[in-house]
Amino acid sequence: MTNSSDSHGSIIPTNLYKEPAPILDKENPFESMMERFDLAANILGLEKGIYNYLKNPVKQIITSIPIIMDHGDIEVFEGYRVIHNDILGPSKGGIRYAPDITLDEMKALAAWMTWKCAIVSIPFGGAKGGIKCDPSKMSIGEVERMTRRFTSNMLDVFGPDKDIPAPDMNTNEQTMAWIMDTYSMHTKKTQTAVVTGKPSILGGSLGRREATGRGVMIVSVSALNKLHINPKNATAVIQGFGNVGSVSANLLYEQGVKIIGLSDINGALYNKKGFNLPDVLEFAIKNGSILNYPKSEKISNEELLQLECDLLVPAAKEDQINSHNADKLKCKIIAEGANGPTSANADSILQNNGILVIPDILANAGGVTVSYFEWVQDRMGYFWPLSLVNERLERMMDEAFLNVYKSAEKYNVPLRIGAYILAIDKVAKTLKIRGIYA
Ligand code: GLU
Repeated sequence: MTNSSDSHGSIIPTNLYKEPAPILDKENPFESMMERFDLAANILGLEKGIYNYLKNPVKQIITSIPIIMDHGDIEVFEGYRVIHNDILGPSKGGIRYAPDITLDEMKALAAWMTWKCAIVSIPFGGAKGGIKCDPSKMSIGEVERMTRRFTSNMLDVFGPDKDIPAPDMNTNEQTMAWIMDTYSMHTKKTQTAVVTGKPSILGGSLGRREATGRGVMIVSVSALNKLHINPKNATAVIQGFGNVGSVSANLLYEQGVKIIGLSDINGALYNKKGFNLPDVLEFAIKNGSILNYPKSEKISNEELLQLECDLLVPAAKEDQINSHNADKLKCKIIAEGANGPTSANADSILQNNGILVIPDILANAGGVTVSYFEWVQDRMGYFWPLSLVNERLERMMDEAFLNVYKSAEKYNVPLRIGAYILAIDKVAKTLKIRGIYA
């Protein structure tokens, strides 16, 4: 299982993790988001009322989802949707299916979506949702019934102008198609713009599946350029080989970056001379894992993170870089493909060691950016060629990187806090102009 911001279309099925569990900071995700938020809010001198407004999600829904399982008994699942903010526009964010989902996690992830959308300048607020379940233990029919019943429970919440879901951990294009169909059946008309990340035959955008990994590649190249490292002489390590990790690795490889470390849920690999990514991808599709890829040396996950390299892309789970290992990292840049891969406790250690961290709310914002393109195309009923999608994505990611960089320089803070400052300032200014309705 991967916590990549956008695991839809993952080519690697869920498997049992064999390595000993790493020591984590196990921070409460909402509190660790708030720690960074507080730092940025202090620097901005955010007034108390606005602070409280932006801290609290506008809506938190917990809903029961009863399903008739294949064996004939009823099982009841718990579903969530947290809308953190809708000041900039309809709320936007993925839906994940996992057994360990918590409301606090949804709250943090929804807030991150608010900041992400503000940073890449798209007219959306932030949301996140999910169902506490283990889809690997369910039949397709059960997952479909659960998805449709969840959608039907959320009919008043979802909507092309209100709240627009997308794929996330363990959900994919098919899940979005079911949500779109259920919503459309109830509203008596086909409404493709109610979800993004759909199959292209149903109004999905070309390039959406690769968008998060492509965005990671774009900001990584910008960061290498900032440090005057030619991508063609750079080395990179990618943790995770789901949709985000595998696409980032492949696109960085196409830029001439030497990929010396890779991992998936089964283990990690090292190749001093650099992996041939198309070959690894083919192997992974055939074998369901990269683990036994021949031209490489097996290493542990901790060894992978501690490899000497220019760029490290954590695109797996949260808390991977934490106070227990941050001091041991030997990379120059971290591009956060996953949501929350670095614990708040690790931030200052990385900063003291001069590691440039491209924060998740910037690095993995390519997915929601192309979701926005998809929503626009659905509403126009006019679809763009892939070249246009990729060109516009590149322009928006480049602009966002530059704006975050400028904000960090202006306030003399790391990129993460620069990104929070930029986002909070934008949402706060919009809130002030809109005013409080009473
Ligand atoms: N789940 C993705 C994310 O965390 C995409 C959300 C979207 O496209 O709405 O960024």
